[in-house]
Amino acid sequence: MEAVFDPSIAARYKSRPQLARVISEAWLASNGYCLACTSDKLRQSKANTKCMDFICSHCNHGYELKTFLRRPLKALPDGAYAAMMSRIDEGTAPSLLLLERTANWHIKSLTAIPSMFLTPIVIEKRNPLGPSAARAGWIGCNIRLDRIGLDGQISIIDQGEFVPKKQVREQFKKFLPLAKKKPEERGWTALTLMVLRGLGKPSFSLPDIYEKEQTFMEAYPENRHVRDKIRQQLQVLRDMKIIRFEGRGNYSFLIP
Ligand SMILES: [Zn+2]
Repeated sequence: MEAVFDPSIAARYKSRPQLARVISEAWLASNGYCLACTSDKLRQSKANTKCMDFICSHCNHGYELKTFLRRPLKALPDGAYAAMMSRIDEGTAPSLLLLERTANWHIKSLTAIPSMFLTPIVIEKRNPLGPSAARAGWIGCNIRLDRIGLDGQISIIDQGEFVPKKQVREQFKKFLPLAKKKPEERGWTALTLMVLRGLGKPSFSLPDIYEKEQTFMEAYPENRHVRDKIRQQLQVLRDMKIIRFEGRGNYSFLIP
């Protein structure tokens, strides 16, 4: 596998965004692999659409490729808000592949955001396009990467180097149980995990988490039982073998 693009294939394209797109699609078609199963091939699901969509022929897991010179860390502009929300609801949202390249077509990084981490609190509704826009009234969305913890950002290529495939798939698999949960529940679990990671220590206590209560209240302003919900999510994370209960309201991480 090569962490370098082949710009020669796009000699006939003039516009830079189109060029970047064609080159990245070709690269993923020959170097991409499925994170959800053992298939080493992804195929393009439809040609000439606005989205760079890929699919695994073996397990049907979907991917959406996005290419950047510098990948955003906070908000990633995506397509229509309503369409994304219904894909999340139906459990058909794709995993995102964020490809960061250098100006001379080397790949700096490739990061996967597993579909399990796309939850309602991560999808931000943008303001409708103004009356002078070609698509006046259209409402797009941002994917708030800062609301997805590092557990939900899997490195496939890091600083130009491939991370071992086995390690990448194991990380993806760890969070696969989330796929069976309703989007709102998955959102709670992912947020709890992000908050716990944010504590920055290998073990923690219930009061440590309660101190971050505000974060949960901001994400779920309707919920009146935030602490109950947090404790429930600790059980979910325990069942997923991500944390361990040490007794007396103490917990520790089972995965680094
Ligand atoms: Zn697959």
